[in-house]
Amino acid sequence: MNRERGIVIAVDGPSGAGKSTISRALSKRLGYLEIDTGAMYRAMSWLARESNLDIDDPLAVEQFAQKARVELQLDNGTTRVIADGQDVTHKIRTPEISMLTSKISALSPVRKAMMTLQRQMGAKGGVVLDGRDIGTVVFPDAELKFFLSASAEERGRRRFLELQLKGVDTSLEATIENVTKRDRQDSERELAPLRQAGDAIAIDSTGLSIDEVIAQMEKLYYKRISEKD
Ligand code: C5P
Repeated sequence: MNRERGIVIAVDGPSGAGKSTISRALSKRLGYLEIDTGAMYRAMSWLARESNLDIDDPLAVEQFAQKARVELQLDNGTTRVIADGQDVTHKIRTPEISMLTSKISALSPVRKAMMTLQRQMGAKGGVVLDGRDIGTVVFPDAELKFFLSASAEERGRRRFLELQLKGVDTSLEATIENVTKRDRQDSERELAPLRQAGDAIAIDSTGLSIDEVIAQMEKLYYKRISEKD
């Protein structure tokens, strides 16, 4: 293995496929660092909204992407999302920010800035990165790649339950629509669209429990590690 701290694990897939939950649990079991790249794009869109960024002004977008500071800080086992020094961990989890993020993340200067940061954070290995373009663009050389999916109904239902627990007022229908629309935008965009890397292992989590999915991934991790040594 030529990375200092372990391998790079890429977990890509559409919204609500369970990527964050599963990546968090898997990284804990392996003693790896989890990098939620969706949270980084969400923080960027939160900053864009705060500064009333005009996304049709290329110069303004370029300056914004260069200036914005997004950090993931580990705090007692949970990850805090910091945007220009402010803790936005919870503020970025609203349906409105989700939709805005899908737009902001399609902007080239924003993607470039986040990709540079993600590559720095993961360079030494020992990381699980979850997102849309990790296995295809950010770490095409990741040693282990997963593509997690589930039916649109199941993904919408999971997101809806999550939002309900957080007290966000929305309906199941609206959540399924939000998830489906975001996937379409993420898949059809020109830059780093959501798609499965040729060498990614596809896992359909419809009808599977989180533990079942993690067990499958862990098994494949140890298989991969033994092949490498
Ligand atoms: O994963 P999550 O739902 O938090 O991601 C929010 C949005 O961020 C996605 O809908 C997508 O538009 C964008 N994103 C991206 N590339 C990534 C991760 C997320 O474009 N690697």
